[in-house]
Amino acid sequence: MSESSVSVVKVIRCIVCPTGCQIKVISKDSEISFEGYACKRGLEYAEQEYYEPKRILTTTIRVEDGFLPLIPVRSNIPILKDKLRDALNEVAQIEVKAPIKMGDILIENILELDVNIIASRDLAKI
Ligand code: SF4
Repeated sequence: MSESSVSVVKVIRCIVCPTGCQIKVISKDSEISFEGYACKRGLEYAEQEYYEPKRILTTTIRVEDGFLPLIPVRSNIPILKDKLRDALNEVAQIEVKAPIKMGDILIENILELDVNIIASRDLAKI
């Protein structure tokens, strides 16, 4: 008779609502399951966070002729966590021209991920 091995491989705190359920990722006989979520949204969040975690990218871009030398920017939607470093490297190559309005798309479709990098504030010309 073979013994089944059960282990908790990760604990994910759900951030979808303020309840903050702790969701366990369970491995049993090489099958993954989730325990501790109180609703379907929590299960979806945990599955996303376990299989394909994503984050909003926040950084700055150099500005030519701007009132400030850098502008804070962010991705319009979360980016796959394992693409963040490549995206940051791409952003570091860019320089944009002032004036800039909050929400302006400064890099369109970065790394062909269907994600835009947008300005987080206005920035006037010198
Ligand atoms: S699992 Fe549901 S109830 Fe629990 S924190 Fe996530 S969204 Fe809220």
